[in-house]
Amino acid sequence: MRIAALTLGFVAALATSGAAVAQTAPPNVRVIATGGTIAGAQASAQEYGYKSGAYDVNTLINAVPNLGKLARITGEQVVNIGSQDMNDEVWLKLAKRVNEALKSPEVDAVLVTHGTDTLEETSYFLSLVTKSPKPVVMVGSMRPATAISADGPGNIYNGVAVATSPGAKGKGTLVCLNDEFHYARNVVKTDTTSVQTFASLNRGPAGLVHTGKVEWFEPMDKKVGAATEFSVDGLDKLPRVDIIYAHANMSSDLIEAAVSNGAKGIVVAGVGDGNMTTPALEALRKAAKSGVAVVRSTRLPMGLTLRNNEVNDDEMGFVASGELNPPKSRVLLQLALTKTSDPKRIQQMFYEY
Ligand code: ASP
Repeated sequence: MRIAALTLGFVAALATSGAAVAQTAPPNVRVIATGGTIAGAQASAQEYGYKSGAYDVNTLINAVPNLGKLARITGEQVVNIGSQDMNDEVWLKLAKRVNEALKSPEVDAVLVTHGTDTLEETSYFLSLVTKSPKPVVMVGSMRPATAISADGPGNIYNGVAVATSPGAKGKGTLVCLNDEFHYARNVVKTDTTSVQTFASLNRGPAGLVHTGKVEWFEPMDKKVGAATEFSVDGLDKLPRVDIIYAHANMSSDLIEAAVSNGAKGIVVAGVGDGNMTTPALEALRKAAKSGVAVVRSTRLPMGLTLRNNEVNDDEMGFVASGELNPPKSRVLLQLALTKTSDPKRIQQMFYEY
């Protein structure tokens, strides 16, 4: 470390003295934009409210001072939407574009700009289907580009710093906002409007990044990227998986409606450790018997949904989501169903990914 620092100092001294030195080319980062508040504009600075996805990728890049000192940046726009409108079709399109970009020798890392509402889902999807060890970092912002103290430019700057840091290779997709970065699998949005909204509640962040200085904390112990069995190659749609929210006095109606509308999988945001009323449980048992994949998750922000704790998953043919919350369980179940509908294999995937 010390020798490296001295060597860098020596190279810098030579460079400033005008001697000819071998220069390392700056890394190439492709920014792929999808919209969100980070590209959002207020109708007027005096008024409350704004529209997501108003600015294009080049405007976002050009608004970040000194970005060119970190990397050579190129940009492309895939869609320009509020992420509340994110859907399976855009996920597939985006994942294919990210994979193509990473295949290019001209691209060392990808930074995806995205709305924050569904960032936790898109990032987990990309983390499971991106096939290159080159870094993929996602950023968003809580304040629109025209706001006082807009947080987007700082998040883009730090996101590029993380994407070009040596530790970022092979870690799956990372999410960087408000001076923290997180593994896609762990991160959730926790606050409707605060800039401190993203958190990895069970495990803590993967690291911190302050004005481009990156510090890694946590190793990644789950399979990501090329180590997963999933691929978007040749996929033009994903199986329908619905999420149903449990509550006191829950009936079986929404479960039956999901099945009769063609859901191939159901994720329950259960009460407590993935529990639900007896009528709901019975409807899910029937659904599982008829071949619909059923995953029990929890509506709580922290903790694991444990297998065979209060519900006998073995007998019911269910899967327990472990650490994954309902939206992330939905992502994994959609991908799992492209491979199998066997609940035992799907349960294994929930342990591994
Ligand atoms: N509704 C916005 C979106 O998800 C919120 C944001 O980006 O912060 O696109």
